[in-house]
Amino acid sequence: MASKDSLADSTLAVHGGERWPKPDDAITTPIAATATYTFRDTAELVAFMEGSVQREEYGRYGNPTVHALEAKCAALEGTDGSLAFASGMAAVTTAILALVKQGSHVVLFRDCYRRTRQFVTTTLERFGVAHTLVEPMDIEGLSAAIRPETKLVISEAPTNPYGTVLDLDAMVAAVKKHRGVKTMIDATFATPVNLRPASHGVDLVVHSATKFYGGHNDALGGIVAGPAHLLSLVKEQRDVLGGIMDPHCAYLILRGIKTLSLRVARQNTSALAIARALEGHTKVRRVWYPGLESHPSHGVAKKLMAGFGGVVTFELDTDLAGAGRFIDALKIPRIAPSLGGVESLVEQPALMSFFELTTEQREAVGIKDALVRYAVGIEEPEALIADLRSALDVLE
Ligand SMILES: *Cc1c(COP(=O)(O)O)cnc(C)c1O
Repeated sequence: MASKDSLADSTLAVHGGERWPKPDDAITTPIAATATYTFRDTAELVAFMEGSVQREEYGRYGNPTVHALEAKCAALEGTDGSLAFASGMAAVTTAILALVKQGSHVVLFRDCYRRTRQFVTTTLERFGVAHTLVEPMDIEGLSAAIRPETKLVISEAPTNPYGTVLDLDAMVAAVKKHRGVKTMIDATFATPVNLRPASHGVDLVVHSATKFYGGHNDALGGIVAGPAHLLSLVKEQRDVLGGIMDPHCAYLILRGIKTLSLRVARQNTSALAIARALEGHTKVRRVWYPGLESHPSHGVAKKLMAGFGGVVTFELDTDLAGAGRFIDALKIPRIAPSLGGVESLVEQPALMSFFELTTEQREAVGIKDALVRYAVGIEEPEALIADLRSALDVLE
């Protein structure tokens, strides 16, 4: 098991990155609701342009509330710094665009977030950036895919919806044999409470802060954390593309992070209890949760992670309509995409992200009709399990 000491805890979540004193001696970070910043006179402007004065200039380039969030995330991830974005996808796409150019090649693990895969395989392709898709957990396949033009290797840990955990040490070792190839891990499903990719030598860590970081299903956001020399490239692109986070959103996510460690500890425990309860049930064909001994990446997950996260995926012993009846019978979780918030959420991937496909096409991309993704909130695990059991009775 990854040592708890090396990961983000509540002390860090509450105090990490905080600057004192704050304006008006407030204990919380004020929301700086401003689109631009004023200069006292032209002399100050000249000093700023010459670089002898450091200060804010314009809202697209930075904001004090956003900087406070960025400092806290850097403390949690154990990196030089971080940059905040308007959404997880703004973070992912801006970071990728900062590291590639026409003629570059990107290696992507096949089980990546659907929109990240779409960006690499369609948008980047249109601009002359090539890619190779590698099978989940396949380090040999990764090594074989790297070319002289390869600039970036992208993966997720754990992946959605099956919770596959790539061996980050093996990935970094394989990539480091080649000059100039950077690694990027989307660690949204892990959070720095369970896994810190930077401590395994990963170059850029990205998060959809919409999920566990914010934790209250009330704000969209994204984070890119890493070393200063790479963040300056990403910042250059953020300044141009404009996907910076709004200060009101930064406030909500800062507030959410203070309970990150508490929430994730609860979600780890509840999700494992739920996964175990479902695994033995006659109406459940299979459960995917990296904390279960039966999961293909349990060994790697145990080595890298302090907890296994809050998402449990399972296949019911029924069909598309039966899975729908089960979901409708659940009383606690709401039906919605997303995960990592205080409210438990449930979704049937076949009816959401993969709705347009036929049963056969869904099977081909690994999504079964009776698959259910359960994003565990902070409710009492006993209540969630009792609710799941009575919904399973509908299938009897
Ligand atoms: C949700 C999600 C994203 C996209 O984040 P948004 O905040 O919705 O833009 C990216 N990666 C993973 C793993 C996610 O779960």
